[in-house]
Amino acid sequence: MDTKYIFVTGGVVSSLGKGIISASIGKLLQARGYKITIQKFDPYINIDPGTLNPYEHGECYVTADGMETDLDLGHYERFTGIRTSRHNSVTTGRIYKTVIDRERRGDYLGKTIQVVPHITDEIKRCMLREDEKDEQLDFVITEVGGTIGDIESAPFMEAIRQLRWQLGRNAVCVHLTYVPYLKAADELKTKPTQHSVKELQGMGIQPDILVLRTERHLDDAMRLKVASFCNVDLECVVQSEDLPSIYEVPVSMQRQGLDAAILRKIGIPVGETPAMKPWHDFLERRNRAIKEIKIALVGKYDLQDAYKSILESLAHAGTYNDRKVKAMFVNSEGITEENVAEQLQDMAGIVICPGFGQRGIEGKIIAAEYGRTHDVPTFGICLGMQMMVIEFARNVLGYKDANSSEMDAETPHNVIDMMEEQKSITQMGGTMRLGAYECELVQGSRVSEAYGNETRIHERHRHRYEFNNRYQEEFEANGMKCVGINPTSNLVEIVEIPDKRWYIGTQFHPEYSSTVLHPHPLFMSFIKACINGEPTA
Ligand code: GLN
Repeated sequence: MDTKYIFVTGGVVSSLGKGIISASIGKLLQARGYKITIQKFDPYINIDPGTLNPYEHGECYVTADGMETDLDLGHYERFTGIRTSRHNSVTTGRIYKTVIDRERRGDYLGKTIQVVPHITDEIKRCMLREDEKDEQLDFVITEVGGTIGDIESAPFMEAIRQLRWQLGRNAVCVHLTYVPYLKAADELKTKPTQHSVKELQGMGIQPDILVLRTERHLDDAMRLKVASFCNVDLECVVQSEDLPSIYEVPVSMQRQGLDAAILRKIGIPVGETPAMKPWHDFLERRNRAIKEIKIALVGKYDLQDAYKSILESLAHAGTYNDRKVKAMFVNSEGITEENVAEQLQDMAGIVICPGFGQRGIEGKIIAAEYGRTHDVPTFGICLGMQMMVIEFARNVLGYKDANSSEMDAETPHNVIDMMEEQKSITQMGGTMRLGAYECELVQGSRVSEAYGNETRIHERHRHRYEFNNRYQEEFEANGMKCVGINPTSNLVEIVEIPDKRWYIGTQFHPEYSSTVLHPHPLFMSFIKACINGEPTA
């Protein structure tokens, strides 16, 4: 079968959940036995979101091949279990950079370089994944960030229009809009949807399928109205109501026949509806798990999206341990020696979050100390691990001035130091140690047990600093063991204190690889430890 292309655009407002809808379409097609991938095209000018503040753009997700990407790629991987790559995340900046680099090389031979056709051609090439040596894919789902009508998304729309023409029935356009409820009138309003579709039509794109985001149920009359005003079949108007969990969305989409509608548009026989048993088992287990377990998330960003993958990984592991994880955000900037007990005493476990820069790090160190001295299961991730190491150096080894050279370049006890290969790098953006690296686990350690006695694992990284190996012997002699080592560079990737119930720090980010059907072993082991310490009353 030729590869089919599904384009997902959004109208009216942002934050409608295009990423979840794209991931759900991927999941449903995969359940029918198709090979899929999902990619995100973002109209902003940054080359990648790596340099964006989480307040602007939420978490930066990292692919196994080391690309810093939009957090929607996390949803794609968690829903479908696919492994995305640098080809799955493209921005306007990247498109322009490729075209401008080509122009400087003289590849265009005296031609005037223009948005149409040069930029749009490059967008089309990326949408068709011409650089990616994929095995044969049945479906490529392309989500375009932003909202219809944004000036910056126009070239992407033009590329879709052209591809649609070129690919004929092998392309389908899904448009996601919003149907607001007006309280005073007690009515749901479809006008914004009509306008949004008109705008899309004005760009030469007729959507095949409309997904209407709504807080209230839309009846058939409403759907029919939208269908007839927008030139869309009734069966192609589906609604995306608020649901208790994002993981319910594929089920709701399947019930309304979204995947079947896509197949019909393309002209593929629809066949039986797949049962998706493992997915339903997960949802049932999740709904049964009502007993709460409180986990502190110690970080400096008080917004959900900044720690998206950690929250999801905790939730997956919670479900498979029959618990509902209640992640309690504890702002590290507000933690002091005096109030730490009050802030953390009710927690079954503590996660010390990743991050960059000085702000809030002393609070993370105090939280690490609290976890260690009160033997509360504590999980340090990346900067969190580094703070565990600094805390240990200060309070166990007695180096009161121990620090990371990121925070204090002059510290005599730089237990966390810049990696050798990073020292000559001056450019920001994509220059950290990024992507999956191999790690050898010390047999008999807590982590090796957590990973089911595996000896070698691969985990994703995003950092510039590392554990300073000059201190390894001293740490080990005093009880903090280096239990995961990169076999080629000898970098310490995991530390643990075996005398504690669960006190583990990872230089890598395990949260990037937990999926709905395969929760991450470290999060599983962490939640188990947290449960074991729960008050029995
Ligand atoms: N700032 C730290 C470093 O660069 C940790 C980065 C992170 O937590 N992702 O090493």
